[in-house]
Amino acid sequence: MAPQIKYTKLFIDNQWVDAVSGKTFETYNPHDGSVIARVAEGDEADINLAVAAAKRAFHRNSEWRLLDASQRGYILYKFADLVERDFDYLAELESYNNGMVVSLSKGFNRYGIDYIRYLASLADKVQGDTIPLNGDVFSYTLKQPVGVCGLILPWNGPIMMFIHKVVTALAAGCTVVVKPAEQTPLTALALAALLQEAGAPAGVVNVVNGFGVGAGTTLTHHPDVAKISFTGSLEVGKLIQQAAGANNLKRVTLELGGKSPLVIMDDADLNTAIAVAANSIFAHQGQICVAASRLFVQSGIYDKFVQGCVAFAKNRVVGDPSDPSTEQGPQIDEEMMKKILGYIEKGKKEGAKLMTGGKRIGNSGFYIEPTVFANVTDDMTIAKEEIFGPVQSIIKFDKLEEVIDRANATNYGLAAGIFTNNLNNALQYTKHIEAGNVWVNTYLLSGPQGPFGGFKDSGLGRENGINALDAYLEVKTVAISLPKKF
Ligand code: NAP
Ligand code: MG
Repeated sequence: MAPQIKYTKLFIDNQWVDAVSGKTFETYNPHDGSVIARVAEGDEADINLAVAAAKRAFHRNSEWRLLDASQRGYILYKFADLVERDFDYLAELESYNNGMVVSLSKGFNRYGIDYIRYLASLADKVQGDTIPLNGDVFSYTLKQPVGVCGLILPWNGPIMMFIHKVVTALAAGCTVVVKPAEQTPLTALALAALLQEAGAPAGVVNVVNGFGVGAGTTLTHHPDVAKISFTGSLEVGKLIQQAAGANNLKRVTLELGGKSPLVIMDDADLNTAIAVAANSIFAHQGQICVAASRLFVQSGIYDKFVQGCVAFAKNRVVGDPSDPSTEQGPQIDEEMMKKILGYIEKGKKEGAKLMTGGKRIGNSGFYIEPTVFANVTDDMTIAKEEIFGPVQSIIKFDKLEEVIDRANATNYGLAAGIFTNNLNNALQYTKHIEAGNVWVNTYLLSGPQGPFGGFKDSGLGRENGINALDAYLEVKTVAISLPKKF
């Protein structure tokens, strides 16, 4: 049964409101392409109202600013309890609007709840230093929330991304205006309702559905927005960085995807490595920013490894994401499906060997066969560009020294992995690989406690970890002159 859709308006100042223009847009179920709701379409006028509400809520005398830091934490703990209460509903709604298989959306919800509680516990642990300035001076630092934050979300993990950005900003004491991705507005609205229920005062959390050009650009150019946090494409990330310097100097955190290398040495435990390598590209239909989209396999085991990957892909259960036994659901929309099929055609044309898959499944919804290419070389388009689909590219290498340089020969640097039982190989790789997250004999393993972000064009700044709040704080140094004589 389809999950009930409770919220389709904009959420501004703790009120559900229509867009000023009165416009709405359709949102879909990627399983069959059907329209499941019409949601309010916010643009410049609505962002202006939302930023004004967030600015009022950030005023020094506001209810939010006068709360004890521990009370901010309690609101977030309550929010975690409410997400837990609505666990199944939220997982089903995410699957319905995104095509994520429901087992994965439950896994992400579990992670999200852990994340909220971890961040809630940090809310009252923001501490400054005492500073030994020269002279008869008492000096200390205050760490204070940066202000109104614009949080621009991608469609690939809507609940997790909302939680990452909103909860971190709130734990730091900021107020937020969220722009969900146009494809996936529904779970952001449901989470905003839970934050209100948890006790977030009016204006602290605002959600404006709408499009990148319009709602998104107004937010990134708004002089009253102090910080932008964005996850999405490199192309838009660059635009956001430019916009953030246009009218005021916004702080910016960017997470921009990758072309992450996973290296398999011939001494690895092959059965584990095959399963992990395959899951690391096929999970969530390949729509994961850290997807292991360049699989480097050492020459001695190459053919055997390719066979294992082909078997994994052929056995994968593709179908309705709401069915708990489904392993792979549809791509997010027709545009992404066509883009991925275009990459597959390019792979064939440029000489990669298609081992299995390669085609659309049926003509309802946006399904693509799990696809494996062998004999991929570094210069091919499928080895260079982020595909964001279920397409495994397997590349051969001979020596570790050689593959480290080849793995680093990309503008991206989000994640990397290696399978080996040789400690020296593992240490050399983790030292020299240019990536923000590196895994040894595993992949995709992360938690709220570990800093997350990219080298090079994969981003700017870090999310998660014990210092996660720093991205939403300003440091103020205070110096107080002491009386000359005492
Ligand atoms: P995108 O265009 O970068 O969108 C991400 C978010 O930014 C959306 O909310 C989007 O709104 C908004 N946006 C777009 N243009 C904007 C602008 N000029 N100013 C402010 N906000 C703007 O990503 P996409 O189109 O959904 O996906 C394209 C590619 O991005 C994918 O193929 C994939 O390679 C990559 N991607 C990476 C991640 C990741 O985790 N790093 C996540 C998603 C996608 P709209 O929804 O209206 O466009
Ligand atoms: Mg877009």
